[in-house]
Amino acid sequence: MTLWSCATCGIEYPDTPCPPTFCAICEDERQWVPASGQQWTAQHELAERGHRLRIAELEPGLQGLEVVPKFAIGQRGLLVSTPAGNLLWEPPGYIDDSAIEAIRELGGVAVISASHPHLTGASIQWSHAFGKAPVFVASADRAWIRRPDPVIELWSGRLEVLPGLTFIQCGGHFAGSSVAHWAAGAHGRGALLTGDTIQIGADRTSVNAMRSYVNNIPLPERAIRRILEETAPWEYDRLYNAFALIAAGAKPIVESSLARYISWLRGDLPDEATA
Ligand SMILES: [Zn+2]
Ligand SMILES: [Zn+2]
Repeated sequence: MTLWSCATCGIEYPDTPCPPTFCAICEDERQWVPASGQQWTAQHELAERGHRLRIAELEPGLQGLEVVPKFAIGQRGLLVSTPAGNLLWEPPGYIDDSAIEAIRELGGVAVISASHPHLTGASIQWSHAFGKAPVFVASADRAWIRRPDPVIELWSGRLEVLPGLTFIQCGGHFAGSSVAHWAAGAHGRGALLTGDTIQIGADRTSVNAMRSYVNNIPLPERAIRRILEETAPWEYDRLYNAFALIAAGAKPIVESSLARYISWLRGDLPDEATA
């Protein structure tokens, strides 16, 4: 039996003798299947190819977890430390003994979650390596669970998962797409961990929200307004997605970028933009 991982999205599947016939995550209109067809891999194969987990401190209390060389989507996982335990956010799709040992030295893992189904990686394997830590999945996205397991706990709306660390369901990219608010982040000014719920622009001074980033499918105005409404009550200065960060002034950037998005949806723009 083998725990299969989709080579394109890096998401783990149940223990079966043969790989699944397709990856529902990648066949969805928000993702993609390579022109060469669906490929599967497994942890031992990734280890043989030389993959490992590189851990680097991003700020006090926050570690970035990156699989090198890059595997699948290549998200940077985050380990957020709190006095009550650590959150593993956007779990990497790769796990090995040295990664487990390194994270154990950082205080281990108390809870696991991802902003949305694309970034769930090897969440169940990570949970099993850390005493069956609960894996939180937004209830609205439960149909996307690829490897059911008793460690999964469904939630919706808002959930203070550890003191000072709150999941906020914003919808948009997926119905259950969420962000995590870390009150102690950015030296107490607050940080938002957004995954694909709020993406950072290439200019690093804007953000965006899409149904599909890779296939360029936008969101309706009501979805953009909901992201604004759900994030408005929270104080934050810094924003981390799964690849980059806005180091300071993130909240006004979110507000102005998403207001601009609504203007484009409505066609409510200066003449030269629509001429
Ligand atoms: Zn996939
Ligand atoms: Zn995504």
